[in-house]
Amino acid sequence: MRCKPGTTCQAMLLVLLLALVCGWTHARPALPAAAAAAAADAMPPALELTAENSRLALNPYVAYYHDIAGNDGLAEARAHLRQGDFRALPAGNAAFGFQPGAYWFHVRLVNRNPVEPRWLLVQDYPLSDRLETYSLYPDGRVARHAGGDALPFDARSIRYRMPNFWLHLPPGQPVDVLLRVESQSSMQVPLSLYTPAAFAEVSRDAQFGIGLYYGLLLALFFYNLVLWLQLRDASYFWYLLHIFAFGLVLFTLNGLGFEYLWPNSTWLADKSVPLSICLAQVGMQQFARTFLELRQRWRFGDYVGLGMIAFFVLLGIASTRLPYRISTPIASASVFTSIAWIAIEAVVVMRRGYKPARLFLLAWGAFLLGTAMIAAVAFGLLPKNFITAYGVQFGSALEMLLLSIALGYRYAGLRNENERIVREAKNQLEHKVEQRTAELRNALGQLGDAHARLRESSQRDGLTGLHTRVHFRERFEQLMAQARSQARPLSLLMIDLDHFKLINDRHGHLTGDECLRWAARTIGQALRPHGALLARFGGEEFVVGLPGLDLQAALLVAEDLRQHLGDEPCSSNGREITVTASIGVHELDNYESGGIDAALQRADEALYRAKADGRDCVRPAPGIEPLTVG
Ligand code: GH3
Ligand code: MG
Ligand code: MG
Repeated sequence: MRCKPGTTCQAMLLVLLLALVCGWTHARPALPAAAAAAAADAMPPALELTAENSRLALNPYVAYYHDIAGNDGLAEARAHLRQGDFRALPAGNAAFGFQPGAYWFHVRLVNRNPVEPRWLLVQDYPLSDRLETYSLYPDGRVARHAGGDALPFDARSIRYRMPNFWLHLPPGQPVDVLLRVESQSSMQVPLSLYTPAAFAEVSRDAQFGIGLYYGLLLALFFYNLVLWLQLRDASYFWYLLHIFAFGLVLFTLNGLGFEYLWPNSTWLADKSVPLSICLAQVGMQQFARTFLELRQRWRFGDYVGLGMIAFFVLLGIASTRLPYRISTPIASASVFTSIAWIAIEAVVVMRRGYKPARLFLLAWGAFLLGTAMIAAVAFGLLPKNFITAYGVQFGSALEMLLLSIALGYRYAGLRNENERIVREAKNQLEHKVEQRTAELRNALGQLGDAHARLRESSQRDGLTGLHTRVHFRERFEQLMAQARSQARPLSLLMIDLDHFKLINDRHGHLTGDECLRWAARTIGQALRPHGALLARFGGEEFVVGLPGLDLQAALLVAEDLRQHLGDEPCSSNGREITVTASIGVHELDNYESGGIDAALQRADEALYRAKADGRDCVRPAPGIEPLTVG
């Protein structure tokens, strides 16, 4: 059911909610013709109880008198009865609203049923404070009983949620029953009379309905309690408060709170109605706020909701002090505004595209529809039956059930959204990682290249571009290992340019440099066919490793080198400079110990010999026969 503000639907809601809260939930029985005629008179007729009647609504036979000051006792009431001050109920309805003082009701009963002397008088409204019944017998005897929720629950004739009194009605004797009612709550005294068997029948159906309703509420409560403990979603908590407090309101209004929860607390019996209404409204508003996500979706609605919560909290606190007849009507009227506002909130949020609001609105509609049924019964638009009489219960049960489903739906939506965000974040992360990995790989490649270039440049001599001495040592050790393992010869040349200091001195250092570069180039070219390892050993000295070449072959290569250098002068700045070299040759002995240093030492000794023999010649190490070369 969707109500727009300002429509008649809202006006009806107000009435029905007030009716609900104030307990005006019984249908008015139609007056029998005789009673209708008597309504205009002062006194309704006496009621004859026959074997056919086991259950009777007493309204048509009841007369009342309003003692505004509330001071009259039995004697005064009897005097008023004699004087004809009692009147039939207005339009047969025993609801008077909030009234001061006390009401006296009278009914004359004549029991024509010989087998049923005991009858139960029940007030079909559970919230009246003080009731006193007086049974006046023809012999002058007076039997008095007291009831109402100002007395402990155990004071009742039968432990039943409505006030009730056993009446002893001897067959054939007229008995005048006077009932005094005083209450802070609304003055409603619909009376019924039952034989014990009829009462058992009636209460059985009601108990079944009540059991079904609260059973469902309890099951929903505990089911959602477990969900809340698992999920820790705030909506579930406020739903629990809502279901608990709303259940409590109905429990209280039905008189079950007094029966089962606080049978000895007349204070709570008095305050429980406004208190539970306020608590239920706080729960409803807070649940609506969190479920509909008002803070994000409708700021203004959220502020109004918060204002209502504050109002109900204050009213709840105030109701512990205020008299019932002030706090309860305020609370009841505010319930209307509160419920209507929640419906508006749901519509607004739904229009803004929030899907779970649809189920929420459906649930709310079920609740309002159930409540509307009560009003329709009260206005005589619907017949009173099990479903219409318990419309609030049916509506609210359906509402709670749908809300529970809506909560699950909303939670699933949140979870899907969460999973989508996580998935997206993961994809983004993976993409970023890929990007970074590629960048890193690229950087590593560049670093590797740079490292290789650096390594290469560290292996090269800056002036001549030949390998350095350090690199030569590394590589030559490898050649030594190879030669050893393959049992192949390996020779070493040590080359030193002759009188180079003089070249520097004569032509300048830069020309000296040029000559050094020229010599390096010439030696490199001459060695190309031999797979030799050439390096600048330092200054104007070069060293050459000749794998696979024995002393003889090495001497020939060295001689070839020497001749290459001498063949052509080095030309620099238009000058022709002759550069010669002395070369020491040494073939490594595979079984010789001492490694590279010993070999270099031997080659150096050979070079020394060449220098000593006049330079520009090739010599093997000392102890080796000089050959015919150079
Ligand atoms: P020897 O025939 O006995 O080897 O005489 P030498 O002058 O070549 O020998 P010495 O060891 O006395 O001198 C080597 C010279 O080589 C000294 C130095 O100025 C020169 N020299 C060494 N390195 C470089 C260089 O990088 N550039 C130039 N221009 N000269 C260098
Ligand atoms: Mg030298
Ligand atoms: Mg020299």
